[in-house]
Amino acid sequence: MGASVGFFGGAQTVTGSCFLLDIRGTKILIDCGMFQGLDHDKNYQKFPFNPEEVSYLLLTHAHIDHCGRIPLLVKEGFKGDIICTKPTAQIAKIMLLDAAKVMKEHYKTLYRKAIRKGKELPPPPLYDTYDVIKSFCHFRMLVYYDTPVLLKEDIKITFRNAGHILGSAFIEIEDLKENKKLVFSGDLGNKDKPIIKQPELPKDADFVFMETTYGDRNHKSFEESKKELLEAIVETFDRGGNVLIPSFALERAQEILFILREFYEEGKLPKCHVFLDSPLAIKATQIFKDNPEFYDEETFEIFVHEDPFDFPYLEFTEDVEESKTINNFKSNAIIIAGNGTVSGGRILHHLKNNLWRPECSLVFVGFQPKGTLGRNIVNGAKKVHLFGEEIPVKAKVYTINGFSSHADQSELLHWLSSFPKVKTLHLIHGEPEKMEVFEKVVREKLGNKIEKILMPSYGEVLELY
Ligand SMILES: [Zn+2]
Ligand SMILES: [Zn+2]
Repeated sequence: MGASVGFFGGAQTVTGSCFLLDIRGTKILIDCGMFQGLDHDKNYQKFPFNPEEVSYLLLTHAHIDHCGRIPLLVKEGFKGDIICTKPTAQIAKIMLLDAAKVMKEHYKTLYRKAIRKGKELPPPPLYDTYDVIKSFCHFRMLVYYDTPVLLKEDIKITFRNAGHILGSAFIEIEDLKENKKLVFSGDLGNKDKPIIKQPELPKDADFVFMETTYGDRNHKSFEESKKELLEAIVETFDRGGNVLIPSFALERAQEILFILREFYEEGKLPKCHVFLDSPLAIKATQIFKDNPEFYDEETFEIFVHEDPFDFPYLEFTEDVEESKTINNFKSNAIIIAGNGTVSGGRILHHLKNNLWRPECSLVFVGFQPKGTLGRNIVNGAKKVHLFGEEIPVKAKVYTINGFSSHADQSELLHWLSSFPKVKTLHLIHGEPEKMEVFEKVVREKLGNKIEKILMPSYGEVLELY
């Protein structure tokens, strides 16, 4: 008996990453992420395997679509070890605690609505804070990049830098008995990104499991996006308004701080107040500060002398009362707040206070999924409803697309082209249309290296060898 892989999330979709590898009866899970958006209901389905039989969970990185179902896995009987890098463990913990809190709040709102309207009660949250804390006991092994670990005498794993977010990894798994090698890409990074090191290139593998989030297109450059951000800030201040930046708490928020600090150092940032108005982003920033060994050279150089995420204009507003004082600033303030898709969080309050003012700006620095308030505004909504009020959208809206944490098509191809030969390439973590575009490009450009390309669907189990 050799090895098989089950695709239980992140298959023909970008969320819910979860792959079960079985090497001669040793069961190893790669990621255990939450389904989001249209697939959200899948979170409520039972795992299509017995969590009690899983010995290891290898976690590529701490985004919730890769770690969000860990507390559920533990609730369902997982007793094994979670293996990941130090920042991944630290970030996963704050992300999971936050997820439990958000689910509880969301449940309370739905519950009240159901009672009021005499409708069916919503399903309870997937897990609570207690379940999250219980799952922490399983983060038993921290690894560093490029340091092989023997899981058993015949199974070796190595985490390599994926350059996607702090601590992110792609994972090599070697079956020493059968002399076979598997590589799971996790999410691969955009090589222009600041702060963390560029993604490492893989060496060889028989079986590759590769993300394809942006398999269909190339991003604008990071430098160009930085220029656009600075222009948006300067123009807004010239008009006498504030700049609102809805941002994900993890990575994007730290990147924005890093870039604003750079503008400050270069004398380009007009005198202003910069508020990081997100308790989760503040906690994530602290984790960035605690892990300088994961920085790229430029950030490390800065770190040796000073804090790469701080500059004199910056203020952290952790509690609600502090956050409310931001309302007193009518101009020359940059407000970075969650959530990134404007579907909740403190950003809504700032929108209520600033969105109707033509002198202000709303600057999107991340992708806005369909169905979110952010997407509606990007699409040109003239008014929005916030806290029971109708607010006209008069502020100038900027969409800056080049700050992605994901590799684009050319970077994915570059990474893939490093393998001298691949027996089977499994395309995962992508929407089917995008995968098809990527598959075509791979066949055109790397056809001679890749024997077979598959796009497994949810629930599929494949015998590898
Ligand atoms: Zn990710
Ligand atoms: Zn992902």
